[in-house]
Amino acid sequence: MRTRYKALSQMSISSFDGVVPEVPGISVDNFESLNKRAYFLTHCHRDHTQGLTSQQLQKYLEESDVFIYMSELSAAIVEATNDFVCIKSHVKILKLGVKQLIKLPATDHHRELYIEVITIPAGHCFGSVMFLFQTPTKTVLFTGDFRLSVNDVSKLGHLHTKEGDPMTIDKMYVDTTFLNENYEEFPKRSDSVDSAVYEIKKFMETSSDNNVALHTSARFGYEYVFNELFKQLNMKVYVNESDWALYRSYKDLVPGVTNDYTSTRIHKCWNRNEKYAHKCLPFDSSTKKFLYVHFSAMKWDQFGVEDLTYQKSNNRIDVCFPTHCSKNEVIYFISYFAAKEVKGFPNEYVADCNCNNKKPVGFKFAKKKFGLRRCNGKGSIN
Ligand SMILES: [Zn+2]
Ligand SMILES: [Zn+2]
Ligand SMILES: [Zn+2]
Repeated sequence: MRTRYKALSQMSISSFDGVVPEVPGISVDNFESLNKRAYFLTHCHRDHTQGLTSQQLQKYLEESDVFIYMSELSAAIVEATNDFVCIKSHVKILKLGVKQLIKLPATDHHRELYIEVITIPAGHCFGSVMFLFQTPTKTVLFTGDFRLSVNDVSKLGHLHTKEGDPMTIDKMYVDTTFLNENYEEFPKRSDSVDSAVYEIKKFMETSSDNNVALHTSARFGYEYVFNELFKQLNMKVYVNESDWALYRSYKDLVPGVTNDYTSTRIHKCWNRNEKYAHKCLPFDSSTKKFLYVHFSAMKWDQFGVEDLTYQKSNNRIDVCFPTHCSKNEVIYFISYFAAKEVKGFPNEYVADCNCNNKKPVGFKFAKKKFGLRRCNGKGSIN
């Protein structure tokens, strides 16, 4: 069993190998290959940082003068996270929405190349961005994890021409986490949070001993929840010192958190078992009553727009709070830009080639890995 454990622990948890052939010699959201001339990170979730903390990478970066490009907020997470801090001096910040020219030096395999990169907010978590790469011959959009409502897509200024038309994209690498017929629809984030706030308010008003424990599916991505709670209840969310180390520098972006546990009855909870005392609180909370609020997405299959955005049972509510696009949102995004080629991660994207105006009008969910296919606008697959 030991051997099996070891084998599993060495497996890559990354959903992407980092390779973007249209921009040769770079790696996005994967740091395992040590022969790249630039690395890019869309956001700081673990499945996108494979290899980022390895000593081999550090050594390579020091010796080769190669950098890791990311948003200012992702760089702040790197700085505030013990595991990541070792690569701090090799980080270069890309300002949000500002076109930046990057020189990719010549190597044994590649000629020198100048590329332009623009970061675009991805709506997934604190600091998450998409990268729009432009080489002399190709325009490539790498979405990373993203959540954009159908109404917001046309507002992405950098993905439109001066005339307001969707930009021509040669290849799109797109997040397909919920590109699955079981996840056709998700609620708007504001609807989910409003219903959670309603229940939290009701519970806290019943007794001054009533406290709230917030459970999130990832370390970052719930800042909107904290801010809305603060806005609607005038109460901040207590977070631990490591989260505070980051958020304290961005009080204007995340005003809804505090490190003062005496000022609030809501905390971000690290306690995975509700039977045990809250180690996440620096005081004895055994006499308090808790409402456990779990934010999740995966378990909300078959969600319909008319459905309630949460489920309630005893001292717990489960709130549907996806930080990735639903199937319909992904399909809308892909169809809107109608990129010449689309590659999906972690699920394969296969266009339904019953085409209309060269735009894919649907898709087939591929459970198995097929070769990359694309719609050529004539009703066939190539
Ligand atoms: Zn993520
Ligand atoms: Zn991810
Ligand atoms: Zn707790």
